[in-house]
Amino acid sequence: MQNMVILGATGSIGASTLSVISQNPAEYCVHALVAHSNVEKMLPLCVEHQPKFVHMVDEKAAAELKAKLPQSLNIQVSTSELDLIGLVSAPDVDTVMAAIVGAAGLMPTLAAVKAGKRVLLANKEALVMSGQLFMQAAKDSGSILMPVDSEHNAIFQSMPLAVQENLGHCDLSENGVSHILLTGSGGPFLTSDLSTLATMTPAQACNHPNWSMGPKISVDSATMMNKGLEYIEARWLFNTKPSQLKVVIHPQSVIHSMVQYDDGSVLAQMGNPDMRTPIAHCMAYPQRIRAGVEPLDFFKVGQLSFCEPDYQRFPCLALAIDACNVGQEATTVLNASNEVAVEAFLNEQIRFTQIASINEAVLKQVPQQSLSSIEDILALDVDARRYAQEAINKNK
Ligand code: NAD
Ligand code: MG
Repeated sequence: MQNMVILGATGSIGASTLSVISQNPAEYCVHALVAHSNVEKMLPLCVEHQPKFVHMVDEKAAAELKAKLPQSLNIQVSTSELDLIGLVSAPDVDTVMAAIVGAAGLMPTLAAVKAGKRVLLANKEALVMSGQLFMQAAKDSGSILMPVDSEHNAIFQSMPLAVQENLGHCDLSENGVSHILLTGSGGPFLTSDLSTLATMTPAQACNHPNWSMGPKISVDSATMMNKGLEYIEARWLFNTKPSQLKVVIHPQSVIHSMVQYDDGSVLAQMGNPDMRTPIAHCMAYPQRIRAGVEPLDFFKVGQLSFCEPDYQRFPCLALAIDACNVGQEATTVLNASNEVAVEAFLNEQIRFTQIASINEAVLKQVPQQSLSSIEDILALDVDARRYAQEAINKNK
């Protein structure tokens, strides 16, 4: 029986994780649920899954939840940051699903890594901000990191055992791997007229053709910043050199990514676009469990197609790849700026196309500082957010 903590329990990945746990009740137990402030969503999750602990980051929400929870469930409610770190690090916790969205996920996820837990990593922003430190912390503590992001999970499944067992620290070429082919659907605006992008609304940007996800990652998919963040995520998870990582547009989202070998072989992982597949894989690896996902029907799929990314249409993708090549400072700045810009777009304060221009301006403006600790990273994140907010205010 694995005791699990779900960070981001009220979100899209949280829901998919709880669905996989419900289908495998003999193997997995919900130890704790963590979310920001949505009491309406958290309350029924507590009643259904009966965790020992529930943590709400927002104090008011924690108090409200405490008042509404039936006493008979005997669930402890907490809210301080210290409590959260204690919760993920507790000795009776085996596995932590890291599915808080954005930079807010970094500290609790890193705490789970440092405590040597099995960490199922959905929160890609943690790696974008602190890849080197994060991967080193996992190596030092012996924490097993499993990539939940569907592309990285597909790459993991297609890698040789030696790479899987030494994630982030293996030399790909020594293991016969020539390239990682990171696939992306291109999102809802892949074929839209370029002149219409400036007037796209949050609802249009969140209307992904294949995947149902939270609002931030949906907007990131529309700008293809998501693929850019995933490029950086892959760089750390698989220890890639720039020449080993390519982005391929694949609109059907049936192939979730591929690994190309020196002998000409290409291994791909396929499936319906349903996050319960990579989540179940991460939970059970090296075993397999039921995820409740429909089997892929190739006759319904019909055709698979591929094309090169268009960087004029998707400037955020180019910014992220460039930042990855510059280094950790640039990716931390880009991640922070993008979070602020996406939030402003979702609140209808800026246009869709301004997300890229704000990110570009912030990358140019924020002084590069060397990052040797998590405190340095968090300070740079704060600086970049301030610059992004200023750029938004100027653009209003
Ligand atoms: P979501 O918006 O649906 O849910 C986000 C969760 O994070 C919620 O439970 C919310 O309460 C919590 N949260 C937000 N701010 C918080 C804070 N300050 N402190 C603590 N908790 C906070 O997001 P999602 O789509 O489930 O995505 C979660 C993460 O997984 C993201 O990093 C995303 O990039 C990654 N991911 C998602 C998908 C997907 O299909 N949804 C796929 C791959 C990766
Ligand atoms: Mg993905």
